[in-house]
Amino acid sequence: MKTVAALLMKNGLPMPYAQSKPFELVEIDLEKPREGEVLLRITGAGICHSDLSIVNGSRPRPIPLIGGHEGVGVVEELGAGVKDLKIGDTVSIIFMPPCGECRQCLHGIPAYCSVGSAANVRGEMSRGGSRISFNGKLIHHYNGVSCYSQHMVLDRRSLVKIPSDLPLSSTAIFGCALLTGIGAVRNGAKVPSGASVGIWGLGGVGLAALIGAVISKASPIIAIDPVAMKRELALELGADIAIAPTDNVREYVKDGVDYSIETVGRVEALQQAYEMTIRGGVVTTIGLPDPSALLGIPAASLVTEVKTLQGSYMGSGDPRKDIPEFVQYWREGKLPVEKLVSLTRPMSEVNEAMDALHGGEVVRQVILP
Ligand SMILES: [Zn+2]
Ligand SMILES: [Zn+2]
Repeated sequence: MKTVAALLMKNGLPMPYAQSKPFELVEIDLEKPREGEVLLRITGAGICHSDLSIVNGSRPRPIPLIGGHEGVGVVEELGAGVKDLKIGDTVSIIFMPPCGECRQCLHGIPAYCSVGSAANVRGEMSRGGSRISFNGKLIHHYNGVSCYSQHMVLDRRSLVKIPSDLPLSSTAIFGCALLTGIGAVRNGAKVPSGASVGIWGLGGVGLAALIGAVISKASPIIAIDPVAMKRELALELGADIAIAPTDNVREYVKDGVDYSIETVGRVEALQQAYEMTIRGGVVTTIGLPDPSALLGIPAASLVTEVKTLQGSYMGSGDPRKDIPEFVQYWREGKLPVEKLVSLTRPMSEVNEAMDALHGGEVVRQVILP
């Protein structure tokens, strides 16, 4: 079938992207879903910082590609063998299709699936190859999602069924912002009730981590970001203290925080989070710095200060358990996810959305294709 999608032909173009236009809306050809795959009509797609890293070239992925790795859609056609979904179902999209057979999947953390990860790096579907072409030439998938498109073929394993009565613009950010942020706190760091938490960076993922810390009854919760609007939003969402990175966390929590969650994706922020963590504390990083960046911390401090430094990816758990939990939290009023969505835009504004994200004045933007 033919559908309209945002195609990234070239990365590293100059800003502003509203002028250089790295994404172009084009009519693509979409193959029918193969065995184990599903055709979706995409109803919402989030704009995440790692999309920007693909556009500016700091995160290498094979291009040309169709962008987008966080979204929501409605099932339009089922490939052979897909028995547990039906046409018309609403699904949340995840960007790591778990194979179910690798060591990571068998250890109960499908978010770390090595087979899915390898397919994502190749820019292919997890069952191999591409279902997208433009002018007769095959186009890469982005993390098996490519949801900046009116329709897309996805692996069944990239989909988690959700109820259809939830607000679309909010559910569009379940698959990356919420999964990554809330999962880092609950599955990754396993923050217990009453522990102090510092959250570095208050974008969509950072604010989702904050919501996770509130759900976990952490106290106090310190939110750290240079942008005043984001600090105000953090206080509204339940942070006890919101400060700029130039402020000293130890003035607010004696000896530092028990748990640090770093979501900025810059080494300076991770170093600061490490320094501001208490002796015996745990630092969890979910930001994505430039792949060439090296972290400089005193090696002995891991022992002398008994700190744990760990990464977390896509929520460090099983999205098929986490996403239904989000739905439950939302119903209980514990998940004010709509506050994370600064604005919705038509797909024709995808380049402008990248500029706004780079400017730092928006939290999450959602494209309505
Ligand atoms: Zn993302
Ligand atoms: Zn696997």
